[in-house]
Amino acid sequence: MQIRSKLPNVGTTIFTVISRLAAEKGAVNLGQGFPDFEPPDELLDRVAHHLRARHNQYAPMAGVPALLEQIAFKIDRLHGVQVDPQAEITVSAGGTEAIFCAIQAVVHPGDEVILLDPCFDCYAPTVELAGGTVVRVPLTMPDFRIDFERLGAALSPRTRLVVINTPHNPSGALADADDWARIGSLLHGTDTLVLSDEVYEHLVFDGRSHVSALSNESLRSRAFVVFSFGKVFNATGWKIGYCVAPPEMTAALRKVHQFVTFSVSTPVQHGLADYLESSPEFFGLLSDFYQARRDKFIRLLAGSRFTLTPSHGTYFQLVDYSAVSQASDIEFCRELVDHHGVAAIPVSHFCETPPDCRLLRFCFAKSDATLETAAERLHAV
Ligand code: GLN
Repeated sequence: MQIRSKLPNVGTTIFTVISRLAAEKGAVNLGQGFPDFEPPDELLDRVAHHLRARHNQYAPMAGVPALLEQIAFKIDRLHGVQVDPQAEITVSAGGTEAIFCAIQAVVHPGDEVILLDPCFDCYAPTVELAGGTVVRVPLTMPDFRIDFERLGAALSPRTRLVVINTPHNPSGALADADDWARIGSLLHGTDTLVLSDEVYEHLVFDGRSHVSALSNESLRSRAFVVFSFGKVFNATGWKIGYCVAPPEMTAALRKVHQFVTFSVSTPVQHGLADYLESSPEFFGLLSDFYQARRDKFIRLLAGSRFTLTPSHGTYFQLVDYSAVSQASDIEFCRELVDHHGVAAIPVSHFCETPPDCRLLRFCFAKSDATLETAAERLHAV
């Protein structure tokens, strides 16, 4: 029997491939983005409490009401934006599920979706599954900003959605209020929606701040905005995030969500609701914590043949290896794992056309010992 895949050109994700390779070769894994650190103790206690408190059956489809309310408080506190917890927030199985549901909810066959390259690997296949056409607009190099001229030129009456990611994976670049205003004016008077992937919202460095699509009034009415608790609480394995969107867009998203996962882990949702209520200061601590990791990684690589321009956000740092090798980033990544025992992610994997640069992405959300071992090996390259 012949199976005709709907994604014939898609393999296993680069993150899975590299993590497997790193394990096989005993390499330090700075590839897939996940932290070496644990969720806060009190949060673990609250989730454990709810496991024992008989919160083990289906949660409401959109999310546990107490958690929806805490999310709405958080958005009000951080962005000064009022969100209706019942009508505008949906708890999802991680950011990836929210992105999938948003795209499936509104992209029809023949619609165009603009992606800014380099971009996270799940966007394009999800658009293809919906029958949409991906239109790629490269970010400017070397600072990974939006090229508004090219974005404007790529917009057409068929553009259903523009996907923005800030803080940006893999570069750490940040969108500012001016970027959002320019996107808002480009889309003014059109039916084009925005999907804003903001899963690294709390990891922003050097005194900068995260500016959400929610804080731009004209975009707020046309945006799905996606967030992740996994990144915030060092709990990527819990696979829990949420999407904020106006009521009509949320209703469309929930029609898909109810048949993808129906609902998300009940005890974890209750535990998160308790913790958000009792420890609202937690978010403010993250940037300093991860900035110290970034700075440690940069310090450790000083004097090596790699060049690093400090990342402004996320837990990723791009590293330029052009003084070491002229090989493609995929080849050089292979070589690093095979011969030097360090795993990273090639940036061309986030692009349709490999960019004219020699960059690898390293995850610095790791303990001192892990970063030190990686750096020692990188110095020997
Ligand atoms: N978001 C993480 C990264 O960019 C990992 C996601 C995944 O493994 N699917 O590395």
